[in-house]
Amino acid sequence: MKFGTKAIHAGVAPDPSTGAIMTPIYQTSTYVQESPGKHKGYEYSRTHNPTRTALQQALAALENGEYGICFASGMAATDAVLRLFRPGDEIIVTNDIYGGTYRIMKRIYEGYGLVFNFIDMSDPANVVQAITDNTKMVWVETPTNPLLRIIDIEQVAGICKASGVLCVVDNTFASPYLQNPLDMGADIVMHSVTKYLGGHSDTVMGALITSDAELAKQLAFIQNAAGAVPGPQDCFLVLRGIKTLHIRMQRHCENASTIAKWLTAHPKVATVYYPGLLSHPGHELAKKQMKDFGGMLSFELKGDNYEEAVAAMERLKLFSLGESLGGVESLCTHPASMTHASIPKEEREKVGLKDTLIRLSVGIEDVEDLIEDLKQAIG
Ligand SMILES: *Cc1c(COP(=O)(O)O)cnc(C)c1O
Repeated sequence: MKFGTKAIHAGVAPDPSTGAIMTPIYQTSTYVQESPGKHKGYEYSRTHNPTRTALQQALAALENGEYGICFASGMAATDAVLRLFRPGDEIIVTNDIYGGTYRIMKRIYEGYGLVFNFIDMSDPANVVQAITDNTKMVWVETPTNPLLRIIDIEQVAGICKASGVLCVVDNTFASPYLQNPLDMGADIVMHSVTKYLGGHSDTVMGALITSDAELAKQLAFIQNAAGAVPGPQDCFLVLRGIKTLHIRMQRHCENASTIAKWLTAHPKVATVYYPGLLSHPGHELAKKQMKDFGGMLSFELKGDNYEEAVAAMERLKLFSLGESLGGVESLCTHPASMTHASIPKEEREKVGLKDTLIRLSVGIEDVEDLIEDLKQAIG
């Protein structure tokens, strides 16, 4: 089945009790049993809920995986993966990652004895070098946030396989429409469902997808034992959101590409970070491993002046200033003070994240209006 058809049909079937075409919101905590232990597969909603089951199956299908496991947020999904490890285990991580991922690793799991090594993965040889006898996982995020660097998933997953190390990919920025890491050899795909999958800025949720039965069993155990599950109402909203994922992504990509080219030609703009630009160092790789180049881009104004960058962001009207991304409406973010504030300034600067960087999540409005807005804001 092709992607658009899966987005609409995967995981969902008419409701058995009424024939309702939309999966109902099973707003229930428990299920009545006929006699002790005799039930229809549902006992308690932390463990299983039919609305969540439908969503988990849909997400697995979109990533070409066998098992989907949903969590109350993207961070709860990441937390579940980190609970697979024990003190002394080493984890190699993309150095230019989502701030919250850096924070949970450094501020929570380092305290429990996990060892994290943040490296530049744009050259996969660096991963080979970083692997030790204690390495248990490589955590990849591509395209990276907020600098849109591209990491070769197939090569990194191959290195992991050869060393018996798990390869996990945070696929939030690409969405399953643009990139399917399991097909390239990754063991687990992680999503902040909050972003493109939900797509309407109305839900916070996370998910893990894998085709490995043993891993799926361990992660489902953690999902139930630790209990960070999403509610049925949120599962319903995401089921509705993903029905248009392919259409939304096409427009996100078109709009972002047009804006990236427009910004590149603007006399006041110094640098544009967008993998769709020929000048982007990861362009060829992005072309190979992604269907298109996505809806996220970042840029810096000439002069590298903090006050000017802030003033431009304040002048934007259609691009609302806010954290998050991937919704139908355009957003503008200041990574240094918002999404990446939990990463120390020296660390941010080491990876090239300047305090004057402006990140855009390009929505699916008419691009002419978005460009007008940028024009009046940049001047
Ligand atoms: C938002 C985000 C997360 C965290 O997800 P939440 O749903 O906010 O908990 C992780 N990774 C990336 C790339 C993100 O953009």
